Parts: sequence; structure tokens; C-alpha cells
Amino acid sequence: MYIIHNHIVDYPDKNVLDIGTDEKEADNAQLFSTGIHPKLIDNTFDEKFKIVSNLAALPNCAAIGECGIDVFSSATVAKQKETFIQHLHLAQQYSKPVIIHCVRAYSEIISAINATRFSLPVVMHSYNGNIQTTEQLLRRENIYFSFSDKILARNSSAQKSLEIIPLCRILIETDNSSSPLQPIVSLIATQKRVGEEEVIKSNNQVFEQVIMNYEL
Ligand SMILES: [Zn+2]
Repeated sequence: MYIIHNHIVDYPDKNVLDIGTDEKEADNAQLFSTGIHPKLIDNTFDEKFKIVSNLAALPNCAAIGECGIDVFSSATVAKQKETFIQHLHLAQQYSKPVIIHCVRAYSEIISAINATRFSLPVVMHSYNGNIQTTEQLLRRENIYFSFSDKILARNSSAQKSLEIIPLCRILIETDNSSSPLQPIVSLIATQKRVGEEEVIKSNNQVFEQVIMNYEL
């Protein structure tokens, strides 16, 4: 199974390893993403963003991110939005998709996507938005929803939102958990009334659509 977002080095399945700004990992990873997590935005941002910009040019860089806006970051939302837009411009420069980390800032994320006219694929990672947010995001054809084990929490927003997200917009990720993905696959299969193989097949197709059509 292909994994769109992963932090575990040497994960056995084909995956996009989030290396942040770790240049050493770029040589080892088959596919990686690079970006500055919104919680890591501080006064070293410009320096780190230079590293991200260099990494973005490498052929095994599959995506830009995770990047985005998190209300629990010590950086202001305004600063985070500004740096998120820098990531979007970088993704546009290399025609690569973005992997977004968003906590309670969906309207700011959408406004940044609109402001940059970003039309490459956008992956909302470890998605846990509510129904209203999901409806809004679904209106943009380039947005995909990636589910981690957060969806397994009883009555999670992700579980409720899953009802209105079609399979062709769904991805599955490990994020930083080493727990098996089978319970996530199973939950999606049950909700969508399809077999688990169907969910995996769809995930792989969506992965290829998001990653492979761009620069690889
Ligand atoms: Zn992550």
C-alpha cells in the first residue's frame, strides 16, 4: 500500500517520508516531502526555508510539506499564513503537490490557496475537519483528504466527514504512528460499503494521481 505521509524512516511500503529540513534523509528516501511544520516556525525560518528550497529541486522530492497553520503554534497566524504562502509558491515553482497541516485554521488555509491560485493537488494531512469544513473543501477539485489513526477515535470529526467524502478523494497515512493501517482501511471500507482491497486500490490510485503526475 502507498503512504502519502509518513515520518517513520525505512518504512517498508512505498511512502513519502516527511524529512522536514533534514538533508541527510533526502539521499536515503525513495520519495520525500520537505517543509517547515507550522509549530517549528521561529526566527530561524528564513535559513531553514533556504534548505527546503534546495531540497524541493531534487527529483525524489515528491511534495512540499507538511506546512500550514496551527492555532497552537507559538508563531502568530499572520506569520504562519505568510510562510505557508511561501511554501505554496515553492510548490508552484516545481509543480509539486502540497501536504498541509491545519489545526483550526481552515478558512486561512483556503484564503491562502485562493490568493495564490494554487491548482496543484492539495493533501489535507491527518484530516479531522468537521462536516461544514469538509463541504467547503470538497468544492475544490484539487483537495484530497488523508486519514491517520486519528479517524479511529470514537465520534471523531473525521469519521463524520468521511460520510460525504468520495473514495476518489481519500488517502491513508501513517503520520508518526507505527500502528497497523488495517483498522483505518477497515473503517473506510465499512463506511463506504466496499471491500478492504477496494479501499487500498483506490488509495494507491489517488496516490499516483497526486504524486506521480508531477515531476516523477
Ligand atoms: Zn506529520
